[in-house]
Amino acid sequence: MVSRTTDDYQRMALAGCVAINEPAFWAGYDRSNEQGFYDYFSLLTGFEPQRAATFGIKHFSWMCINPKEAEDVGLADAVLALIPEFLQKPTVLGIGEIGLNKNSRNELVVLEKHIQLAADHDQLILVHTPHLEDKLKGTRLIVDALKNHSAIRPERVIIDHVEEHTVRVVKDAGMWAGMTLYPESKLTANRAIDIIEMYGTENIWMNSACDWGISDPLAVPKAALEMRRRGHSETQVHKVFYENPAAFMGQCPKFVL
Ligand SMILES: [Zn+2]
Repeated sequence: MVSRTTDDYQRMALAGCVAINEPAFWAGYDRSNEQGFYDYFSLLTGFEPQRAATFGIKHFSWMCINPKEAEDVGLADAVLALIPEFLQKPTVLGIGEIGLNKNSRNELVVLEKHIQLAADHDQLILVHTPHLEDKLKGTRLIVDALKNHSAIRPERVIIDHVEEHTVRVVKDAGMWAGMTLYPESKLTANRAIDIIEMYGTENIWMNSACDWGISDPLAVPKAALEMRRRGHSETQVHKVFYENPAAFMGQCPKFVL
């Protein structure tokens, strides 16, 4: 939401959105030091919840240094040291979106540090997976890194940006699968509903890409409309678009609707 206008909050409220969860991500530019991240985390936990509340929407967030800026391990260490303070905030649900961007060695080192941070503070984890040709390999690397940590419970992890060829890897590991919807590139609503029809409605959700590229904050309600149009029952639609995210995020006691 840091890249969106207030009109988007208004449109989401009109479309029936009651809560937003916003992962820490790239802010449109590479930050030159940890202070830049401190200010960003302050925005995510201060101004954004206030802006959302104007429209009756609850705003939750996740803390991390995103994989796109995690190539500098020294900077990542400095940012990781800031995060425990923000985990105390009433709207922070956990660590995310961590993961891999180019599947580099440094990204993997920083991913493992985040997993340790989540374990130390008993936090939920939200994971970003790479796109295109790096996705399957990256998803496997991430799932292995999480499974190798004895303190991480798979049902407290959601692996986002799953597609047809990675959803099985995630579900077999006992983790939740997130499908990020894009209007034209990457995963569309129709493909996401195909995946639901193939793999069922358990432990899966959809979310709207809301970023610096072409993206649509209403992608989720539009996908719900499409699911109804295809003849799915209201019970199934409610499960995918409301009950599932509420069940996953509800594992954090701060998530109250
Ligand atoms: Zn992502």
